[in-house]
Amino acid sequence: MNKNLYLGIDLGGSEVKIAIVNGSGRIIEKTTFPNSYLSTPQDVVRRIIEKTEQMANLKNVCATGVGVAGDIDQENGIVRFSPNLKGWRNVKFKEMLERHLPKPVKIENDANAAALGALWLDGKGIFRNIVCVTLGTGIGGGLVFDCKIYHGATGTAGEIGHIPIDPYGRRCKCGSRGCVEAYLGANYLSEDAEKNRALMSSPVIQRLLKDGELRITPKIISEAANLGDKEARKIWDMYGERLGIILAGIVNLLNPELIVLAGGVSQAGSLILDPLKKTVEERAFKTPVKNCKIIISKHNKILGMVGAAFLNK
Ligand SMILES: [Zn+2]
Repeated sequence: MNKNLYLGIDLGGSEVKIAIVNGSGRIIEKTTFPNSYLSTPQDVVRRIIEKTEQMANLKNVCATGVGVAGDIDQENGIVRFSPNLKGWRNVKFKEMLERHLPKPVKIENDANAAALGALWLDGKGIFRNIVCVTLGTGIGGGLVFDCKIYHGATGTAGEIGHIPIDPYGRRCKCGSRGCVEAYLGANYLSEDAEKNRALMSSPVIQRLLKDGELRITPKIISEAANLGDKEARKIWDMYGERLGIILAGIVNLLNPELIVLAGGVSQAGSLILDPLKKTVEERAFKTPVKNCKIIISKHNKILGMVGAAFLNK
């Protein structure tokens, strides 16, 4: 059999997901293992080798791609820094993997890899210019122009989460202030919700908390909103509006054909999408808005793996 399959690895702080994918993006085989903030690069490489060696289709793989959260030098395959992995600084990850996995090996920022996954899985080959926004603990972004990831001068392009929306706003982990991530990152969202007295005293929230939930997670806020809680709905209206302001700017700046929302928080679905679309329509130029589809990914859990696999396609 010809070597016509691709290996894709999504390296997250709590889990590593591995898939062998065919040329149309269909997952042929997959596996996973838990990861931790304290894993060293050597630990992770050893586990990846162990796991991939057990995959029946590895012999038919012609290339390997890896998505890692953080600042990546994709040209040289170096993880400059990863916020999810302690002590990972200037790790020559490509070199480490090349000794054991099918070559060529490419290393990419995880949100960029997800954007490539969204291009093929959600865009189905119809679109060429897309923006992918991942909504989770962090707010990530990936830009694809003419079916290729746009990296900018040093590989940093697409950091949508660190676009400022408030000139005198709260401090962000990146060192700046007022970044969109400092309002819409999942932990900030939960902290703000817990300080919101009207929300916390709502009977719906009280009941959900009594059911054993300890924290006000984005999932609880969407459950409450779907049960008709007005305060919970207000939180999503704010979320959609703030993200919509950024995306209106992006529509005017880049004129994309498709914007795909992915990541755990995107599962709030129309609670985010409705106020977001309204804001983008109000704030961006009419023609680019009319010609830009905004959707929530239907392939959320596999975008990272498939995108990583397609880095070599
Ligand atoms: Zn920031």
